[in-house]
Amino acid sequence: MKIEENYSLKNHNTFNVDVKAKLYTEVSSVIDCLNILKTYPKEKILVLGDGSNTLLIKDWEGIVIRPIIKTIRKVKEDEQFIYIESGSGTNWDHFVRYCVAKNYAGIENLVMIPGTVGGAVAQNIAAYGQNITDTLVSVRAVDIKSKKKVMLLPEECGYEYRRSNFKNKWRYRYIITSAVFKLRKNTKEFELSYHERAGRYGSILEELNSFAKEPYTIQDVMQAVINQRAKRLPSVDEYGTCGSFFENPVVPIKKYEELSKMISELQCYPVEDLRYHIKDWAEYRKEDFVKIPAGRILDELGWRGRWIGNVGVSEKHALCVVSNKEATGKEILDFVHEMQKDVKLKYDIDLISEVNIIE
Ligand SMILES: Cc1cc2nc3c(=O)[nH]c(=O)nc-3n(C[C@H](O)[C@H](O)[C@H](O)COP(=O)(O)OP(=O)(O)OC[C@H]3O[C@@H](n4cnc5c(N)ncnc54)[C@H](O)[C@@H]3O)c2cc1C
Repeated sequence: MKIEENYSLKNHNTFNVDVKAKLYTEVSSVIDCLNILKTYPKEKILVLGDGSNTLLIKDWEGIVIRPIIKTIRKVKEDEQFIYIESGSGTNWDHFVRYCVAKNYAGIENLVMIPGTVGGAVAQNIAAYGQNITDTLVSVRAVDIKSKKKVMLLPEECGYEYRRSNFKNKWRYRYIITSAVFKLRKNTKEFELSYHERAGRYGSILEELNSFAKEPYTIQDVMQAVINQRAKRLPSVDEYGTCGSFFENPVVPIKKYEELSKMISELQCYPVEDLRYHIKDWAEYRKEDFVKIPAGRILDELGWRGRWIGNVGVSEKHALCVVSNKEATGKEILDFVHEMQKDVKLKYDIDLISEVNIIE
C-alpha cells in the first residue's frame, strides 16, 4: 500500500477541484483498510470514491482513503434470483453493464451514473424509477471507530430520498468495502414508468419505442436510458460537474398550488414511492406533500446556461451546476449560494444540496 503525501485530488473529483490531501492511499482489501487504520489512528479520514457527488472546498488535513476493491462474485442463486457481491471500488456503470450482459435485472435503469459501488451505496442513487435500495441486500464495511468489520442491512442505513446515514450521521465512520444485490434472472418485466410530464425529453417508453419493439430486452431498456441520459446531462469529459446539485424539494400541496400560479408547467409528483425527508414527518401525512422539480424552478429564474466566471449551469439541465474544470471549490460554493438565495427570495424555498460539501 503506497502512501502519498501532499497529494492533489484534482483527478479524484468530477468538479476537478485542485485541493490536496495531507496523506492519500488506495486500499485494495479489507486487510488494507484495517492496516491503514492501525497505522494512522489519529488522522482525520475521508473516504472518497470517484468524487462524483463531492465538492471539495479546501485541502484535507488528514488521510484520504480510496477503496479500489473491485471483485465481483456470485453469493448464491435460486430459480428466480441471483445474489451478486461487488467490491466498493468497482465502477458503478461497469457493474450495471456486467449484470445486464448476464440478464440480471433490477439496476439497468441506473446505467451511466458516474462513481463507484461504495459511492452509490452511500449516496442512495436513483434514476428513471429505480433506486439502489430496490435491490440492495447488505453492505460490508470497516468501522473506523472500532476498527472492526461489520455487516449492515439497508434498514439500518437510514435511506431516504438522496440520503443515508453514510452521508449524514455516519459521515467519516465507515469504509464500505462491498455490497450485495439481489437481481432477477431472465425477467421480461422492466421499470418503464418514468416520464416527464411537461419536459422536452419525453418518457422512457417513447425512447424505447423509437428503436425497439416488444417484447423489450434488458439491453433495449438499458439503451433507452443511455439515450435519455445523453440528451439530458452534461458530459463529465467536457465539464466539471456532480450532476444534479440540489434535491428536488418536497413541499405542502398548498405551497405547490401557489407556486404553480407563478411558474408555468410546474409539475408535481407523489411522495409515496420514495422515503422523503420531511421535518417532523410524524405530524404529517404523506398525502399532504408533493415533490416538485428544482430544475423547473431554476429554469424559470433564468439559471439555465448562466455563467459567473469559471462556474455555470448546464444548457441541458438547470439543476446541473458545471465548471470549466478550473474553478476552485469556493467559487463553486459561492455560485451555488447565489442560486439558493435567488430561489429563497423569489419563492421562499430552501434548495438543499444533494452534493456532499467537504469543508
Ligand atoms: C453527470 C452526473 C450524473 C449523475 N447522475 C446521477 C443520477 O442519475 N442519480 C443519482 O443518484 N446520482 C447521480 N449522480 C451523482 C453521483 O454519480 C452518485 O452520487 C455516485 O454514486 C457517487 O459515487 P462516487 O464514488 O463518485 O462517490 P463520492 O462522491 O466519492 O462520495 C460520495 C459520498 O460517499 C462517501 N463514500 C464514497 N465511497 C465510500 C466508501 N467506499 N465507503 C464509505 N463512504 C464512501 C464519501 O465519503 C462521500 O460522502 C450524477 C453525477 C454526475 C457527475
